[in-house]
Amino acid sequence: MVVTAPKHLRHSEIDRFVAARKDWIRAVRERLARARAGRDPAIFSLRPARIDLPAVGETWRVVHGQASGELCGQGPDTAELLLQLPANEPIEAVVWQLHGWLKNRARHALTPRIQALAQAHGMTYGRLSFRNQKSRWGSCSSKGNLSLNARLLFCSPEACRYVLIHELVHLEHPNHSPDFWQRVAELCPDYRRHMRELKTVWHRLPDWVTAS
Ligand SMILES: [Zn+2]
Repeated sequence: MVVTAPKHLRHSEIDRFVAARKDWIRAVRERLARARAGRDPAIFSLRPARIDLPAVGETWRVVHGQASGELCGQGPDTAELLLQLPANEPIEAVVWQLHGWLKNRARHALTPRIQALAQAHGMTYGRLSFRNQKSRWGSCSSKGNLSLNARLLFCSPEACRYVLIHELVHLEHPNHSPDFWQRVAELCPDYRRHMRELKTVWHRLPDWVTAS
């Protein structure tokens, strides 16, 4: 457990604060342990059996082993998306491949969406890049280059669209001024709800996504 406290607090005061809340701490720990136990091991592992990407409505079945060098393709059922990963490589290598795959999926699926939105609203951006970032959903540089977090694929389609709009509106307003938010609201009236969802997505990411 990590306790964050202002600098001027004495250690004894912090200890007293923690001691006074020990029941609450125990309850939270138990709840987290139950949540971990209830997680689907097929998804919540570094070798996932399935990958759901709600933002783009895709479910991938992951096959570990008999790697032919083919990283993705169609399963026997043509509607099934198949991701093939080597079984004999160390887990770090598998996670690294998954991260690369996720960024490619994001590039493939989100590039046409942001292009369509930019075109519809007369916005022009420079370069577009995709990253697997820990703390931000996207950014817009002063030169008009956009960066999007590949983890957006784990949000709802609506929340994902809001982030694309947020970054595009920065091309017109490079700040979070009232004008910026007014323009966001014009293009995405429900944006406050999507912001609330985005805060919770960080805690629901599969383990292989956040592993480094
Ligand atoms: Zn912003």
